[in-house]
Amino acid sequence: MIRDIVIVGGGTAGWMAATYLNRVFGDRVAVTVVESDRVPTIGVGEATFSTIRHFFDRLGLAEHEWMPHCSASYKLAIRYQDWRAKGEHFYHPFERLPDVAGFNLADWWLYLDGDVSRFDERCLVIPALCEARRSPRSFDGRLLGEYTEDGRAQFPYAYHFDAALLARFLTTFGVERGVRHVLDDVLSVEQNDRGWIDHLVTARHGVVTGDLFIDCTGFRGLLINQTLGEPFESFEDVLPNNRAVALRVPEDMGLRGVEPYTTATAAPAGWIWTIPLYGRIGTGYVYSDEFCDPAEAEATLRAFAAPDSPDLEANHIRMRIGRNRRSWVRNCVAIGLSSGFVEPLESTGIFFIQHAIEQLVRDFPDAHWDQALADDYNRRVAEVIDGVREFLVLHYLAAGRDDTPYWKAAKTRAVPDGLAGRMRTWASLLPDESSVYPHFHGFDTYSWRVMLIGLGGWSTRPRPALALADADAARAVFADIPRRARRLAATLPDCHDYLAALHTG
Ligand code: FAD
Repeated sequence: MIRDIVIVGGGTAGWMAATYLNRVFGDRVAVTVVESDRVPTIGVGEATFSTIRHFFDRLGLAEHEWMPHCSASYKLAIRYQDWRAKGEHFYHPFERLPDVAGFNLADWWLYLDGDVSRFDERCLVIPALCEARRSPRSFDGRLLGEYTEDGRAQFPYAYHFDAALLARFLTTFGVERGVRHVLDDVLSVEQNDRGWIDHLVTARHGVVTGDLFIDCTGFRGLLINQTLGEPFESFEDVLPNNRAVALRVPEDMGLRGVEPYTTATAAPAGWIWTIPLYGRIGTGYVYSDEFCDPAEAEATLRAFAAPDSPDLEANHIRMRIGRNRRSWVRNCVAIGLSSGFVEPLESTGIFFIQHAIEQLVRDFPDAHWDQALADDYNRRVAEVIDGVREFLVLHYLAAGRDDTPYWKAAKTRAVPDGLAGRMRTWASLLPDESSVYPHFHGFDTYSWRVMLIGLGGWSTRPRPALALADADAARAVFADIPRRARRLAATLPDCHDYLAALHTG
């Protein structure tokens, strides 16, 4: 059996992997994290996907046990501001669209009032809760309900958190449960005569040996790329944003309030994220250096997010967009930024980490190192990243915005194989299971519908069949949505009030 796992890197990826593997395999497998105290972590990565709750569930952590340590807050949706046109917004929430009388509610919306109402407000409940800044949990412990008409449960929210605080929290959590923590620099990665990783040489702790080495060294890919030479395949031809600049803006959130969503605001050469944590705002401008230089990006971000705080330190980041051809090579598995990354528009970086760890557990090898396990892992990791790539390209193609050279170019740039054909289909039929990217359903089809309609630059014809169908049931659902939204908004507490109680115990 494989008994000894060595993880290089102590960012979100390294500590999520260490704590999860330790939880699953217990003391049957030794887990060591080697983390430099000289090379900083990326320092961003604050918004998540609703599947993140499975990670905390697996570690056996309830919200009150970890959220107060990580300045964490709730995320019900992403608010897309100015993507349709300046001054307009819509939400992409964690909420499925129900079927009514055999057709999806989005189809009914297109047919009944597609040109007179805002899709998200008309078809979904969460947008109203976002506007009212509600918490998804009430003080008596109840959770914003499972309100999908087709009965499929959906966890309705994710989290925002301070990535550095989460890594620190997971360090303590992991070390208390037996993870070995080596604070040191890896000076070299030594291979045996077959080219497999044999051991690491560290500055102060000498040689560190292991069976399986996990590369969590971020964009540098110290093991997978620099040592094993695995090629990195860039996505910049279809997703040109390759830089970001970030600020941490202290705020009195009690005065300001906490909105329960991430905001992505379209900007001249990219977009700006606004992430309300419990205690500060995380913000950053993601842009393409083809259209904007770092100084201009920083000035745009400061003017937008912190005009009165010129002394805040800006974190400039060059992003490696794409993925390794394979993320598991010989006895090395890359997880996190060393494996692959697409821009954080749909908050998928940590989701990629979680998916990779869960898949590694399923494909975990023994001393035979069956290649079929690694092949399965590599295929699934690639499909997830490629699926998200396609979903993100859709955001730019379908955006109504085309007022700067950057946004104009977004309409004529190359698209991944298959997407152009799918977009043609979506002129007549909204996306469904059979017409979205076939290998990855991490984004349910409702997400593709919400984005295609919400972005405002793409039109889909209503299904002709609806002219012959009985619309009464759909009208009743549309009439009920604002009633349910009002009821929930009246029942659920203000998001800041709920978080204040959670954070102060
Ligand atoms: P890093 O944080 O870079 O950590 C690398 C680690 O390797 C560090 O501990 C470093 O000390 C160590 N290391 C490096 N070299 C050595 C060495 N020689 N010896 C020992 N140790 C070494 N994801 C989301 O889910 N949501 C978001 O909102 C989001 N926003 C993002 C915004 C931007 C601009 C970027 C770039 C990323 C964003 N991400 C987001 C992605 C997210 O930040 C990462 O997926 C996550 O932080 C994981 O990073 P990492 O641990 O792979 O790498």
